[in-house]
Amino acid sequence: MASKSRSIPATPDAHSRKRVHELESHPRVVAALELLRQRADEITDLQEEFARLPSPDHRAAQRARLLERLLQEAGLSRVRGDAAGNVIATLPGADRRSVLLSAHLDTVFPDLEKIEIEREGTVLRGPGVADDAAGLAAIVHVARALREAEVPLHHDLVVVGTVGEEGEGDLRGVKHLFEAEYAREQVVAFLTLDVGAHRSFVHAGLGSRRLRVTLAGPGGHSWSDFGRPNPIHALSRGVARFLDAVPHPRNGRSSYNVGTIEGGRGVNVIPEHASVRVDLRSESIQDLTALELALHEALKAGVESERDWSRAESEALKLRVEVIGDRPVGVTDPDSPVVRAAVAAFAARDLHARLARSSTDANVPMSLGIPALGLPHGARTRNAHSMQEWCDVRERQPVLDAVLLTVVALSAAGGPG
Ligand SMILES: [Zn+2]
Repeated sequence: MASKSRSIPATPDAHSRKRVHELESHPRVVAALELLRQRADEITDLQEEFARLPSPDHRAAQRARLLERLLQEAGLSRVRGDAAGNVIATLPGADRRSVLLSAHLDTVFPDLEKIEIEREGTVLRGPGVADDAAGLAAIVHVARALREAEVPLHHDLVVVGTVGEEGEGDLRGVKHLFEAEYAREQVVAFLTLDVGAHRSFVHAGLGSRRLRVTLAGPGGHSWSDFGRPNPIHALSRGVARFLDAVPHPRNGRSSYNVGTIEGGRGVNVIPEHASVRVDLRSESIQDLTALELALHEALKAGVESERDWSRAESEALKLRVEVIGDRPVGVTDPDSPVVRAAVAAFAARDLHARLARSSTDANVPMSLGIPALGLPHGARTRNAHSMQEWCDVRERQPVLDAVLLTVVALSAAGGPG
């Protein structure tokens, strides 16, 4: 998961509270919660084991193999990898509809071949140590506890490790899941454990569009060919126009970032190529479209202005814009049964939820109208998406209890849908 945003408090309603209270005292649920408690150290060991495995190319094949083996050992059925590389396993319920519980296999460090993790008491440090190794450890142990305690489920519980959640992975694992594996009407709810704060629920998916802009020109010598159009100058003019044209970040609903700039051969060479990669995000699809349009217009104007300056022919500079990421906007109604069940389950452990917006695997089901939520994984995380990432797992227990209770509330007979 990525990005912060303002959040709103959520209060549990009396009916959901009562239902969670009843479920908590069911002997098999009590047994499942006890198993989680006994395995606290094992869960941290597993988080560390996942975090040490590199995740090249947003596929994380080694992590996928480990997850597959653990879900098999935990006694889940139909354990398999799908065509995208997701790992899927089922804890069968009485009917054919499903509650999906997921975490992502990949990290924002697809280039790291070796990952060092340091552990000191309940604190773990290292890139990707929590995001989303903590989620993977949690889905394994929640499913395993439900299976071993033989908690009766009405709907299937489907455990999923997704590929391609981060960055240019572009949610391709979860997109495939809903294109090829699960029809919308089959899914009661989709939960992804991908939040590093204990009380934060992601109920709305920030949309994003990611673009690679490339400019090509004739190139030349900086002195003898001076006056030829320069792709770096043209892109710089375009980017500057874009930044002047778009609203100030204080409006809070959108963001934009020129994240990379590349090109050129040397200081005395007019470059033949230049490119930038741009990340645009918004809570609203209209604003996102408007941002993208503004970027296109500014870039075209930048190219025009460079052509005017150089008096070059119109063919001298070639502008190309490719979409390298597209995350849909979506929202799960705060009053929906899925949100209400989760809010009540967390409140039962004194975790008073706040609803926030972010970009996670849940964006895709949300955009399809499937109730979906990003939930905490229990490792309080700092500096995610950086080499200095660290987390504290001291208070993981109540979070995992609440996740298990949420799953049971959604999967049990009389649950939503
Ligand atoms: Zn994440």
